[in-house]
Amino acid sequence: MKNIIFIAPPAAGKGTISKYLVDNFNYIHISTGELLRKVSKEETELGKHIASLINNGIFVSDELVLEIIKQELQKIKNKPFILDGIPRNIEQAEYIEQVFKELSVDNYIVINMEINVEALKKRATGRRLCNDCRLSYNVYFDKYKPQEENKCNNCHKDLIIRKDDSLEVFESRYQTYINITLPVINFYKNKGIISSINANQDNSEIIKEITNIIIGEFND
Ligand SMILES: [Zn+2]
Repeated sequence: MKNIIFIAPPAAGKGTISKYLVDNFNYIHISTGELLRKVSKEETELGKHIASLINNGIFVSDELVLEIIKQELQKIKNKPFILDGIPRNIEQAEYIEQVFKELSVDNYIVINMEINVEALKKRATGRRLCNDCRLSYNVYFDKYKPQEENKCNNCHKDLIIRKDDSLEVFESRYQTYINITLPVINFYKNKGIISSINANQDNSEIIKEITNIIIGEFND
């Protein structure tokens, strides 16, 4: 199995795909957010330090995040892994290359999930929420539409749009994503180790494409 560095915009379905790979191919999913939360619960110097940063709303530095990822990679030994949420810039990408060299990880691929911006926009901005029972809907997809316009199926209250699901928020997040990841994508393109996946398809098609990539060179 090839180790994976996952790059995908928010709402592209990366979580579902990662879960499939974990369940079916025994991948270890290393998400920076989850990893930091996990470490912050450990009774170690590092754990306490991370917990205090998180509790005080202080940003965890790149250096520290990368150090924690390195430790995690050492722990999982030879199991295949998915790196999710990192690298977010060239410096991180170079550091990860360095860590891979130290740990003799040479069998890896960068998977770039490409998805149409209009589709992403619908997923993000079509969301409606019932403030009462917390059911969520999406007005752009028949499967997730409320039966009666703007009313909850369950309790018939008016649905609301969360501030985070506004077009402005989506556009700013998407732009940030593009600005941040484009240089990283180019970095890996130059190394010839990136595979772009069409993420506009059904999950089953996406999974098929990714499976072909990760078992391309089977070296177990
Ligand atoms: Zn409701």
